[in-house]
Amino acid sequence: MGDMVVVRKEGLYCVPGQFYIDPWRPVDRAVITHAHGDHARVGHGHYLSTSSGVNVLKSRLGSDINIDGIEYGETVTHNGVAISLHPAGHVLGSAQVRMECGGEVWVASGDYKVEPDKTCAPFEPVVCDTFITESTFGLPIYRWEPEQQTIDEINAWWRKNADEGRCSVVFAYAFGKAQRILSRLDPSIGPIVCHGAVEPLNSVYRAGGVALPDTVMVSEIEKVALRRAIVIAPPSAGGSPWMKRFGDYSDSFASGWMLLRGARRRRGVDRGFVLSDHADWPGLMSAIKATEAERVIVTHGSIPTMVRWLCQNGLDAKGFDTEYGDEEEDESAPPGVEAAAEAKAGGEAEAPAGAEAGEADA
Ligand SMILES: [Zn+2]
Ligand SMILES: [Zn+2]
Repeated sequence: MGDMVVVRKEGLYCVPGQFYIDPWRPVDRAVITHAHGDHARVGHGHYLSTSSGVNVLKSRLGSDINIDGIEYGETVTHNGVAISLHPAGHVLGSAQVRMECGGEVWVASGDYKVEPDKTCAPFEPVVCDTFITESTFGLPIYRWEPEQQTIDEINAWWRKNADEGRCSVVFAYAFGKAQRILSRLDPSIGPIVCHGAVEPLNSVYRAGGVALPDTVMVSEIEKVALRRAIVIAPPSAGGSPWMKRFGDYSDSFASGWMLLRGARRRRGVDRGFVLSDHADWPGLMSAIKATEAERVIVTHGSIPTMVRWLCQNGLDAKGFDTEYGDEEEDESAPPGVEAAAEAKAGGEAEAPAGAEAGEADA
C-alpha cells in the first residue's frame, strides 16, 4: 500500500479516505485539527472537528459552515478509514487526527503542546506507524520554563505596574494564548480588560466550560480604573489609536519567540514573556518517542533540523511542504528570525542540553 497521507496542492490528503486534513485550498471534505487561521480556512464543503472545536470554528469561520463534531476518542469511518481525534493540548478543541486503514495507523498532529494548561484537554500521545508532526519550535534552543513560572512573572509585572499607577498591556494572539493567560491571571490585582478581538473567543471558551476570570471591554471601565488594569489585546492593536486611552502604559508580548533577543527587540515592547502553545524541542522529542512511530514526517517550522536529528536517531524521517504557519501572527517567526536561529543552531542538533544557552538569553 502506498502512503496513506500525501501532500496535494490543496493540502494534506488521506488517499484511501478521500479527505483532507487542514487543507489550505477549498475542498469537499476537511478534517480540521484546530481553529487557527492557517489550519482552518473558509470554503470547504464539509468540516469534521472535535465537538469542543465546533463552536470555535463557527465563531471564526461563520455559523453557516457545514460541520460535524465528534468526541475525543470517538471513531467515524469514511471510505474504509477509521478516523478518530485525540487531544493535542494546543487550544480549545485542538486534536491530532488518527487514521487507521488495512491495519496501518497514521497520526497527523496539527499543532500541539505537551505541557497541560487550564484551557484545553491535555496532549495524549497516540501510538502509530507514521507520525506527521509540526516543528514550529523544532530547534534545540527552544526550551520552555514551566507555565507556572511565566504566569508568576506576568502577575508580578502587573502588580508592580498597578502599584505604580500604570496600566499593563499584554499583546497575545486573540485565540488560545489570550485565554490561556486570562485563565491564570490574579484578579485581586485589578480589573481585566479585553480587546474586541479577544472577548468573543472568551465567550466561546466560557461556553465550553473553561473557567476564566471576569473581563470587561474598554468602553465599560472608568478611565481612572485603567491605572490598575491589565489589558489583553492582539498584536495588531500595537501602535494603533486604540492604545492611546491607556496613557502611560507598560507593554509586553507573550510568545515562544520572546526567547529570542532579536524578536523581543523587533516587537519594541517593555517585556517579553516566553509562553507558547507549541511543544518546545524536548516536548517534540518526547511526543515523537511516545508515538512509537518508525516513520516521522515533519511539517511547518524547522523541517531540515528535525529531519536530520530524527534520521540520526534511527527513524525514517522526511518533510512535507505545507502552507501552515502564515496566519498565527504571534507564533510564526518574524522574517529572518527563524533563518538566523536555524543558521546558528543548525550544527547544534547533537549538542548536549544547555549547550545553546548563549543563544537564548531568557
Ligand atoms: Zn495553531
Ligand atoms: Zn500550525
